[in-house]
Amino acid sequence: MRLTGLAVRGFRNLAGLELEIPAEGVVVVGGNGQGKTNLLEAIYYLMLFRSLRGAKDRELVQFGEPGFWVRGTAADETSRNIQVGVRYELSTARKVVFLDGAEVRKLGDAVGQILAVPFGPADSEIVSGTPGIRRRFLDVVLSVSRPGYLVRLLEFRHALRQRNAALRRGRAQEARVFDRPLAEAAAFVAGSRRAWVEEWRERFGELCAAMGEPAAADLRYASQVEDSGSAEAWWERFEHSAERDLRSGTTTVGPHRDDLKIGLGGRDIRFYGSAGQRRTAAIALRVLEAETLTRYRGTAPVGLYDDVFAELDEDRQGRLLELLRVSLPGQAIVVAPRDAEVPAKLFDRPRWQIRGGQIVR
Ligand code: ATP
Ligand code: MG
Repeated sequence: MRLTGLAVRGFRNLAGLELEIPAEGVVVVGGNGQGKTNLLEAIYYLMLFRSLRGAKDRELVQFGEPGFWVRGTAADETSRNIQVGVRYELSTARKVVFLDGAEVRKLGDAVGQILAVPFGPADSEIVSGTPGIRRRFLDVVLSVSRPGYLVRLLEFRHALRQRNAALRRGRAQEARVFDRPLAEAAAFVAGSRRAWVEEWRERFGELCAAMGEPAAADLRYASQVEDSGSAEAWWERFEHSAERDLRSGTTTVGPHRDDLKIGLGGRDIRFYGSAGQRRTAAIALRVLEAETLTRYRGTAPVGLYDDVFAELDEDRQGRLLELLRVSLPGQAIVVAPRDAEVPAKLFDRPRWQIRGGQIVR
């Protein structure tokens, strides 16, 4: 897939942009705070209608402006063109999404029409951060690659909120009513996540090795229910924890408590991995994300690279480039604070400068 055009207004420091994106991608160079990450965030917003950095929509509105909009056009290998647009209004907190010019009824219908995978300094958080960050990683990958996942995830959250509300008020019988729908949705969500991990764990090890990591890397889905895809197993688990849940006033088991465990040499990388090893694992996860989209959506996502080549020695730069060439054959949009941070092999791409949120060619 490639992005052919991008228009942005009032999004962070991007006051107004109207860009045609070259088919082979582009390198955008600019100093700190000029809007490089904002530009990638605007593109990524077209996939999920949520911030790449986990920011709230209102924080994305340019200071002093009433709202923002972003519009992108993209083409896939079949040259089918799509246009995705989104408008957000600060005063009402209303977000409207357009697909080929027509307003969509449900936001979810337009999620993942444009496919992008971000690579950036914050990715290490996926490896080092809380389980919630890793669950979010899995949820994003599955939402844009597995039909029905997003809908079931939202159903799960809805049932969970209702069950928790009943538990908080001490209503045991009322809470039980939600055990069935919760178990059904939990089985789909946790079952999909576990299946994804099983499908890609070997590849994860290969990728870490390809980036120069000598220790064996592994992925594991950790859940209190081994048979994660079974609604019956989840239902039993919810029944079983009913009393404890009532005492705590919240649902203490479920896919919302699961984790993606990342091991290196048989040990949890969170506690024993070095900074460079965690970075390597994070990049491998992003590559898996890209390969998943390519396999299940039939088109390689746009790669959004935020200063990924910085800090790496030449050997690792070379390995990473080779890996991305194979795993992310789609369009690349690369941002970097200095020309020199972008390896020579990417130099043949058109090069733009960004200053104060404006592109200067
Ligand atoms: P670095 O090289 O340091 O990563 P960058 O070019 O990636 O820099 P961005 O994160 O894209 O920088 O942009 C940061 C700039 O955007 C800052 O100057 C910040 O003040 C500005 N900014 C952030 N949010 C808003 C907003 N809502 N309205 C206006 N400007 C904003
Ligand atoms: Mg930045």
